[in-house]
This record gives sequence, C-alpha cells and structure tokens, in this order.
Amino acid sequence: MKQGLFLVVSAPSGAGKSSICQKLLRLCPKLDFSVSYTSRLPRPGEINGRDYHFVSRENFRKRVKRGEFVEWVENFGHLYGTSRRIMEKYQKRGGDLLLDVEPRGAKKIKKIFKEAVFVFVLPPTRADLMKRLKKRGHENKDAIRARLAQAESELKEISWYDYIIFNRDLDEAVQQLRSVYSAEKCRKEHLAAEIKKFMTK
Ligand code: 5GP
Repeated sequence: MKQGLFLVVSAPSGAGKSSICQKLLRLCPKLDFSVSYTSRLPRPGEINGRDYHFVSRENFRKRVKRGEFVEWVENFGHLYGTSRRIMEKYQKRGGDLLLDVEPRGAKKIKKIFKEAVFVFVLPPTRADLMKRLKKRGHENKDAIRARLAQAESELKEISWYDYIIFNRDLDEAVQQLRSVYSAEKCRKEHLAAEIKKFMTK
C-alpha cells in the first residue's frame, strides 16, 4: 500500500510562506493543499474552497462540536481549523498533502500523525522579520505589538520542527522545500510497505 506524506509548513507572519507554498504546489502536481476552515473574511484574490473554506464563527463552532477538525485555534480573533476528513482521506488513499498551519496546530498534528514532516520558514534575519511585521497593513501600534509578541512565541517552537528554511530568495526557498519533500518521499520508513512488497516478490 502506498503511503501518503503530510508536509506541514509554519512561519511567522511576513516570512513569505504563502508564496513558497503556492509555487511548490504548482511544481508538484501530486501534492495537494489541505484547505483549512476559517472564520475570517476572504482577502482580495482569495477564493472560497481554494485558499480556505470561509465560514461564519457560528458555522465554525458547529463543526468544532461535530469533531470535524484535527486541530483548531483562535488566531488574532479568527478561528482556523484543519479538516479531519481531508487528512483521513489522504492517509487512507496514500496521497500527499501540504498543510499551512501555525505552530500550535502543527504540534497537535504531530501528536496524531507521527510520520508528518514539519518545516519552519524564516526570513533571512531577525531584523528582517521585525521590519516585515511592522510593515504589514495599516494597523495601530497595539496590533503591531501583538504580532511581534506572537512571532516571538512562535519562534520558540522552532526546536521541534524537522527542517528550517531561510527565505533569502523565493526560488531558492521553493527549491529547498521541494528537496525536503523529495527526500522525505525516499525515506526508507516512508517506503516500508513498498520495500516489503518488492522483497517478497
Ligand atoms: P492567514 O489569516 O494570514 O491566512 O493565516 C494566519 C495564520 O493561520 C497563519 O500562520 C496560518 O499558517 C495559520 N493557519 C491557517 N490555517 C490553519 C489551520 O487550519 N490551523 C491552524 N492551527 N492554523 C492555520
């Protein structure tokens, strides 16, 4: 039986994770995106069902009660959750999934799906990170302060991730993530079932 791979990517806000993930998905037709549910409103250009399943808070809460999420969090007043159905479907059929999830959710996924691979994307330097966090949007000082605090707490989670990618150059970062994906697909533990089949024929 073919085994699927779950590639979980996290990053502090402004590290360029979305662009990296989108480019990787274009390069890897066998890798699908795990579309999360969120209670936040779509940003310009975002499409329901492609970027997120955009639902009301009430609808999200109902889904929580029905146990539809592998994990869910509240992030800056918005709810985000990973669909249990999609993860189980891909696990069953052996498909590869890319998940864009912040560290609290990633940690829960790690507990449930032990073979998942975790990648943390960082901007080139801490000063770059600070600059990018301050620049994002036209927000007041409190919002910026909250984002800085969140980034600091997320950085503490780096230690348990499997791979770190410094996003110095977008194409290079995409290549690195692609290399992680390819290498993990060749890991002997990942190929255990196929190796067994090969050996017994
Ligand atoms: P944004 O609102 O900018 O799209 O996402 C904000 C944060 O939520 C990002 O760090 C993103 O990785 C995270 N996120 C997106 N979907 C999920 C999810 O299903 N679960 C968790 N825990 N975080 C998510």
